[in-house]
Amino acid sequence: MNRVSVDTAGRPPSVDALARELAIRHSLPHAVLVDIARRAIANGSTADVKKIADELASELAQSLLRDVVNATGVLLHTNLGRAPVAVQTINRASNLELNMLTGERGSRQDAVGKLLALLCGAQAALVVNNNAAAVLLVVAALANSRDVAVSRGESVEIGGNFRIPEVTEQSGARLVDVGTTNRTRLRDYQKAIDKRGNDIALVLKVHPSNYRVSGFVEDTPTSELATLSVPVAVDIGSGLIDNTCPWLEGRTPAWLANEPAARQTLKDGAALVMFSGDKLFGGPQCGVIAGRADLIEACAQHPLARALRPGSLTMLSMQSLALAYLDRTVTTEITFWQMATIPVSELQLRAEKIISASGVGEVCLLDSIPGAGSAPGATIASAGIVIAGDHLAKLRKHDVPIIARVKDSKTFIDLRTVRPQDDAVLVSALKSLQK
Ligand SMILES: *Cc1c(COP(=O)(O)O)cnc(C)c1O
Repeated sequence: MNRVSVDTAGRPPSVDALARELAIRHSLPHAVLVDIARRAIANGSTADVKKIADELASELAQSLLRDVVNATGVLLHTNLGRAPVAVQTINRASNLELNMLTGERGSRQDAVGKLLALLCGAQAALVVNNNAAAVLLVVAALANSRDVAVSRGESVEIGGNFRIPEVTEQSGARLVDVGTTNRTRLRDYQKAIDKRGNDIALVLKVHPSNYRVSGFVEDTPTSELATLSVPVAVDIGSGLIDNTCPWLEGRTPAWLANEPAARQTLKDGAALVMFSGDKLFGGPQCGVIAGRADLIEACAQHPLARALRPGSLTMLSMQSLALAYLDRTVTTEITFWQMATIPVSELQLRAEKIISASGVGEVCLLDSIPGAGSAPGATIASAGIVIAGDHLAKLRKHDVPIIARVKDSKTFIDLRTVRPQDDAVLVSALKSLQK
C-alpha cells in the first residue's frame, strides 16, 4: 500500500513513504522526490506536509525545460528561446573537427565559416556562443591593452545585462567615449584617434536595438567611419543578412526598413560585423563575426575563442540555415521567416477553424512584433483569437503549454507565432478552458 501514514501520535510520514506516495502523481526521478519529501517534512507542520510536498513536486515538474506553443505574437521571444529551431541529428559521430580530405584534424569553423562569409559578402566568418561573446572576442583580440572608441550614444545596455562599457572592460581594453549622447560625428572619432595619450585600436559601432533617442540626433554612418585609420567593427545585433531580402524574392517587408544588415554594413566599409544567430537570422543561440580574413584569424587564434566556441549541434544547425539562405529556401526551411511572412488572411482562416473546432473565442486582428530588440517599434499585422478573461495560468498548464498574452482582462492568442501543426494543440487547450 502506498498510503502515507500519519500515525495517531501526529508524527510526520517517513521520507521514503512520502516519496513513494508522490510517485503516484508526479513522474519525477525517485531521488528528486526524496529530496522534495525531505524539504516538505522539514518545512511543514504534520497536517500539511503532503500538500507542501505535492506543490513542490508540481512546481519542479512545471519548471523543467520543454517545448511550448508561443502564442504571444512576439516572434523572437527571449523568454521562449528566441528563434524556434528544430534539432536534427542522430546519435552518430560527426566530422566536427576532422578534415575529410586529409583525414587529419580540421576546424569546426571551416565549412560553416565559408558559407556564412559567402552569405554576408565577407572574406571569412567565425561562430561563437552568442553575440555578447562575439563582441567580447573582437574587442579582446583586436584591442587588448589598447583603446576602443565608442560613441556615447551607443554605449548602451541591451537586454539581460549586456553593457558595452562592461564588455569592453572585460576584454582588457580601455573604453574611450566619443561625442555626446545624442550626436556623434566623424570628427569626434578623429579627435579621439589623434588625442595624445589615446591608443585607439578599434572603433566599435553598436546598433542600439531596443533603445531609441529621438529628436536632435545624429550618429556617424559606417561608410564615414570606414575612412578612419583604424578598423571599424559593427555590432548590428539582430543578424539581418541582407536588407534587400533576396530570399523573399526581393520584397523587403516594411517592418525591416530601418534594420542594419550584415552585407550592406560590410559593403559600407566595416572591417567586421557581429550579430546574433537566434534573432532575424532565425537560428540557434550563437554569435557570428564576419569580415576581413586577417581580423577573423586574429579572433580565431585568441585564447578566448576556445572558451567561446559552440558545440556540434549549433554548428550543424548554422550550416543548414546558411545553406537554406544560399539555396533561397528560407521561407520553407526557416521557421522564423515562415512565421514572419505568412499572410494575415491565412491566420484568420486558421483562427476560424480553431474557434469552430473548440467552440471558444472570437477572431481578432492583432499586431505581432519581431522581438529581441529587432526592428524596435515595428509591428507586423496579424490575426488570432480573443477570449474573455485571463486564462494565462491554465493555458500554461496545458500539455503542450500555451504561452499567450492578456490585455484588459482578455486573453489573446496570436497565430503568427504558432506553427500551423500546433493548431490542434490550441483546439484541445481551448476546449479545456470550458471545463
Ligand atoms: C541582442 C544584441 C546583443 C546580444 O546578443 P546575444 O546573442 O543575446 O548575446 C548584442 N548587441 C546587440 C546590438 C543586440 O541587439
